[in-house]
Amino acid sequence: MSDTHPIRIGISHCLLGAEVRFDGGHKRDSFLADTLSQHVQWVPVCPEVEAGFGTPREAMRLVGPSDEPGLVTIRTGRDLTPEMHRFSHRRLRELSAQNLSGFVFKKDSPSCGIERVRLYSSHGIPGRQGIGLFARSFMQRFPLIPVEEEGRLNDPVLRENFLERVFCYHRWQDATRKGFARRTIVQFHTEHKYLLLAHSQPHFQELGRMVGQASRYSPTQLAQQYGARFMEALKVKATVRKHVNVLEHILGHFTERLTGAERGELHGTIRDYHRGLTPLVVPLTLVKHYVRRFDIAYMRSQVYLNPHPKELMLRNHV
Ligand code: SF4
Repeated sequence: MSDTHPIRIGISHCLLGAEVRFDGGHKRDSFLADTLSQHVQWVPVCPEVEAGFGTPREAMRLVGPSDEPGLVTIRTGRDLTPEMHRFSHRRLRELSAQNLSGFVFKKDSPSCGIERVRLYSSHGIPGRQGIGLFARSFMQRFPLIPVEEEGRLNDPVLRENFLERVFCYHRWQDATRKGFARRTIVQFHTEHKYLLLAHSQPHFQELGRMVGQASRYSPTQLAQQYGARFMEALKVKATVRKHVNVLEHILGHFTERLTGAERGELHGTIRDYHRGLTPLVVPLTLVKHYVRRFDIAYMRSQVYLNPHPKELMLRNHV
């Protein structure tokens, strides 16, 4: 992780406790505001306030077709869609200079929600296929940047997955900040091999082939294709079975250097993890101990062993 470039994550401002909601309230989320804030720099955005709608303001909702809904106030029926689009266009241009590594959006909001936002037909019939107008524009403009809603971050698996993607994307931004050298991309791939394997074997193989044939691509082509497929791979859920597979691969690097008792203990912790008796952090801690003890340079550089700050305790729950 870079010490020089802070990890910047965009966030719906009400989630940090700002009183910007339509009713003058907030939706402070303590994990985001207290815990994660020690590791990242927040870039708060409240689309409705920054678009000039004021606080308090009339509540609004999405109305119309799901691919092009309008933002309309509920009581007076005022159409605020053009203002929101103008604001989004301007604000996204500013955000592109901020090098964001992720965005946490407020769920259910007609401006910020990323999925299943209440959407009304022109006859007033509600459905759940809406996407907030600002969130939609953000995802279209920055398709690789990891996004998530605060509600889903209460699920330990989704939380770990989102933050892993954020930290990986930040490393990718750092690696390619000075341009797209083939050598840099090959090194990036080498360091992320086991992490990729924990998510998707097909992506792992495809990206391996891409890097193996790096000279066939221009550096820019390679970076664009690699970056997109890499971020896509991390969205595939890492399961217990896949983690067990990775742990066994890693074990292959030093198993013959262990005593019988050590080998038995290590296999026992992996078995317990497989059976759901312990979290991932237990076999991983022992694996890291042996990687240090045998000083295995190739393994030491594997991001899989330390994908995010241990203080976040993300692998204590998966
Ligand atoms: S959900 Fe979005 S638009 Fe609504 S108050 Fe929060 S930041 Fe502002």
